[in-house]
Amino acid sequence: MGKLDGRVVIVTGAARGQGEQEARLFRQEGADVVVADVLDDPGEALAKEIGARYVHLDVGEEDDWRSAVSAAKEAYGHIDGLVNNAGILRFNSLVDTPLDEFMQVVRVNQAGCFLGIKAVAPEMADGGTIVNTASYTGLTGMAAVGAYAASKHAIVGLTRVAALELAPRGIRVNAMCPGAIDTAMSNPAQLDPAADAQATARALDGLYRKLVPLGRIGRAEEVARLALFLTSEDSSYITGQPFVIDGGWLAGVSVL
Ligand code: NAD
Repeated sequence: MGKLDGRVVIVTGAARGQGEQEARLFRQEGADVVVADVLDDPGEALAKEIGARYVHLDVGEEDDWRSAVSAAKEAYGHIDGLVNNAGILRFNSLVDTPLDEFMQVVRVNQAGCFLGIKAVAPEMADGGTIVNTASYTGLTGMAAVGAYAASKHAIVGLTRVAALELAPRGIRVNAMCPGAIDTAMSNPAQLDPAADAQATARALDGLYRKLVPLGRIGRAEEVARLALFLTSEDSSYITGQPFVIDGGWLAGVSVL
């Protein structure tokens, strides 16, 4: 018996990183999965490998959401879960952030999450689940990621409101707040064949040893297990909550 037997789940930004691990784990646990992304080649390859359905979905496009919902219902008949995972990060101090860049981040992270709830919730079976991917920076500040942190704080707010509005239908809505997770977002060298991604990872290791009480970066598979918990019956009495998964980073600073 899988924890998601008979359930149909859409995972956005699933072509790589945390979304990919969520799609893989959900399939292993018996779900039918819709892999959604703007990266068509890796998204299609993943869907083929794990026996899922791929859809091209730019989360900032309302029409794309309509098509993705239709494709999911056509393929599997119903939708029981959504993981709003797609996201982008831009580094800049607030005073140096061009408005276009700020709006680009808001469009994908914040509006993408809003449009996902708006498009999927009315089509979702009662008793379904929505998991929104916020961030450690959805609950605290971090210099140089102002647009990103603002969009992630907004996701925590959207999560609470959606939980209240959808509770009468038994739809639970929660947010994940990962700290530093080992993906292309935290180590863009992973995407550059000319770069030494291992060397960058080693350089970052020292930083995480200092910042994170557990002394290491998190793994995408660990976030996927939290997404599974929030999508399965194991979390049946939990809704409207942000879940921090950060190796203890948000707990505070140590003076020892
Ligand atoms: P990633 O960059 O590897 O994956 C992000 C995915 O989102 C990619 O597949 C990308 O193509 C997709 N995407 C980007 N824009 C899109 C759009 N408009 N429509 C659809 N898909 C789009 O990074 P990741 O770490 O796997 O990120 C997953 C989520 O976790 C993001 O929401 C991110 O903000 C969040 N997060 C990441 C970290 C971290 O340290 N890696 C920490 C906290 C939160």
